[in-house]
Amino acid sequence: MHTNVLSNKVRSMTESATLAMAQKARDLEAKGYDVIALSIGEPDFDTPVHIKEAAKDALDNGWTKYTPVPGLISLKEAIRDKFARDNKLHYELNQIVVSNGAKQSIANVCLALLDPGDEVIIFTPYWVSYFDIVSFAGGKPVLVKAAINTDFKVTAAQLEEAITDRTQFIIFSSPCNPTGSVYTKEELTAFAEVIKKHENLYIVSDEIYEYINFTEEHFSIGSLPGMIDKTITVNGFSKGFAMTGWRLGYLGAPSWLASACTKIQGQITSGATSFGQMAGAFALTSDMTPTHKMTAAFLERRDMMISLLNDIPGFKVNKPMGAFYIFPDISALFGKSYQGMEITDSFDLAEFLLTDAHVALVAGGAFGDNRCVRISYAASKESLREAVRRIKQSVAKLE
Ligand code: PMP
Ligand code: GLU
Repeated sequence: MHTNVLSNKVRSMTESATLAMAQKARDLEAKGYDVIALSIGEPDFDTPVHIKEAAKDALDNGWTKYTPVPGLISLKEAIRDKFARDNKLHYELNQIVVSNGAKQSIANVCLALLDPGDEVIIFTPYWVSYFDIVSFAGGKPVLVKAAINTDFKVTAAQLEEAITDRTQFIIFSSPCNPTGSVYTKEELTAFAEVIKKHENLYIVSDEIYEYINFTEEHFSIGSLPGMIDKTITVNGFSKGFAMTGWRLGYLGAPSWLASACTKIQGQITSGATSFGQMAGAFALTSDMTPTHKMTAAFLERRDMMISLLNDIPGFKVNKPMGAFYIFPDISALFGKSYQGMEITDSFDLAEFLLTDAHVALVAGGAFGDNRCVRISYAASKESLREAVRRIKQSVAKLE
C-alpha cells in the first residue's frame, strides 16, 4: 500500500471535516439529490462589486507579478490603519504578514513557534483546523472545554489550570467558529491577566469573524495593556467581505515572529495573489455598507434559526452572538435509532441527516464537542426553513 510511504505526519492528519462534508453534499447533489448544504462556513453572498472592480482594474494595470513575501506595502498600510481604526492595535508594517488565507497565517505561526511536544491550549469547541495544524507542526493540543451551559465560553480559571512549562501559546476565535460565541472585554481582560504572568506565553486571537458580530462590540485582546507583544492577531477577507475563494488573510505579531512567518512563507508559497492584494487594500479602505448589510441578514437568520430549532424535540440551542453558525446540543437523541441506524454521537446524527433529510451539517465531534452539531446559516431563509423542516421530520422518526 502506498499509504506506508506517506509520512507519519500526514497519516495522522485528519481530513478537514468541514471541507469533507461540503464534498459529500456535492457528491450527493451530483447524483441528483436535492441537498441543502449547511456544512461549509462560507457567506452565501458574492464579493461586493466595488472590490471585484478593484481586482479587475489591478489586472488591467499590470498587477500580475510576484509580490513581496509579506505583502504589498499598500495593503500592509491599509491593514495597519484598519488594526488601529477597528481594533486599537498599533502594529508597524514589519509586524504584518499577508498570506493566502487566515488558514495559512495560523499554519505559519504554528510552524514558527512549535517544537515537538510543545503544548498549545485550544479553547474548545474549536475551529476544526486548529487541532490538525498544531499537530502537524509537532505541537500537542491541550483542550480546554466549555459546553452550552456557559455559552461555550471557557474561563480564565480553566485557562490558568491548563498552563504548564511546555505551553507555547493559546488559540481561540471570537466570534467563534463553531459556536458563534463572542468574548467580552472583561472576559478577555481576565485571560490577559493570566497570560501576563508567564514570560514566554502567547495567544493567537483569530478575529476572522470580527465584522459578523451582533453585539457591535468586537474587542481585540492584543489592545489590552501589555498584550501587544504577546498576541498574534489573525484576520482575513473571507468572511467579512465574502471573499473565501480569493485566499487572502493576514496577521499582526511581534516583529521577530512576523519575520519567521515571512521566512516560512517565502519557502512554501511566496506572497499572496497580486491583484487580490490590490483589491484587499481597497476593501479595507472603502465603503463597508455591503459588509454591514450581510451582518444584518445573518442576524435575522440567526433569530429565525433559534426559533425554528427550538421547536425540534432533542435540540437544545443557545444564542450565538456572532459568526453564522449555530451549535445545538443534540445529546438528548443519543441511544435512539431508525431502521438500524443508531445515533450514538454527533457523527451519527450528521450522517443520518445527510442520508435521510439530505441536509448537510457538520458533526460537533470535528470541533471537539461530540454532543453538538454545527449548522451554518449562511444560506437563504427559504433554504434554512426547508432544511429545518426536513431535520424535524427525520428526527421525529428516531425512537
Ligand atoms: N479561522 C476561522 C475561525 C475560520 O472559520 C476560518 C474559515 N475560513 C479560517 C480561520 C480560515 O479562513 P481563510 O479562508 O482566510 O483561510
Ligand atoms: N472555515 C470554514 C468552515 O469552518 C470554511 C472551511 C474551512 O476552511 O475549513 O467551514
